[in-house]
Amino acid sequence: MPEDIDTICVFCASSQQSDQVYRDHARKLGKLLARKRYEVIYGGGRIGSMGALAEGVLQQSGKITGIIPRFMEDLEVHHEGITRTIWVDSMRQRKQLMLDKSDAIIGLPGGSGTLEELMETITLKRLGQYLNPIVMINTRGAFNPLQDLFERCISERFMEKRHREMWKFVDTPEDALKAVEDAPPWSENARSFAALK
Ligand code: AMP
Repeated sequence: MPEDIDTICVFCASSQQSDQVYRDHARKLGKLLARKRYEVIYGGGRIGSMGALAEGVLQQSGKITGIIPRFMEDLEVHHEGITRTIWVDSMRQRKQLMLDKSDAIIGLPGGSGTLEELMETITLKRLGQYLNPIVMINTRGAFNPLQDLFERCISERFMEKRHREMWKFVDTPEDALKAVEDAPPWSENARSFAALK
């Protein structure tokens, strides 16, 4: 694994009702990350793709930390078997900590929670405030509309072609690890072309 990447944060769905393939990809990703000795950070849930990711990591005796807001304790959705749980006060604090404590982001398809996490991270990267790899696994083509939307943002001149280098879409968990390892460098200078003037 690259010397500077030890910990990878995964954003993924809480849903249990989505197609099984989403949980299969999450479990596979968890196993691969653990086998390669990456530490995993995630939202701390035990349901849906999040739960499957955690099971995959734990099956391979890997390390996984959940960062979860206190109000979710009442929802009884946190995973009690993970390596460590960090309780925080708000969704915002959670996201900040997830980014601060990891060296790369991998996103699997999900709902508004996953999309929000990915969009904020991409926005921070565009402004040079987040410099690490961002990789999205396009399971079942679920990210096709997002890919199209980014292309539309570029063709409408809301974003630059070089902003495409901020993220990478891949088809499988295996490809995601390779994409993280091969991600092009990004610098704080990105701020200078964040806005199209
Ligand atoms: P969604 O894709 O809308 O299900 O949201 C999932 C993302 O939002 C995860 O990456 C979590 O960080 C966060 N999240 C949403 N719901 C939960 C939950 N019930 N337990 C833990 N994290 C959650």
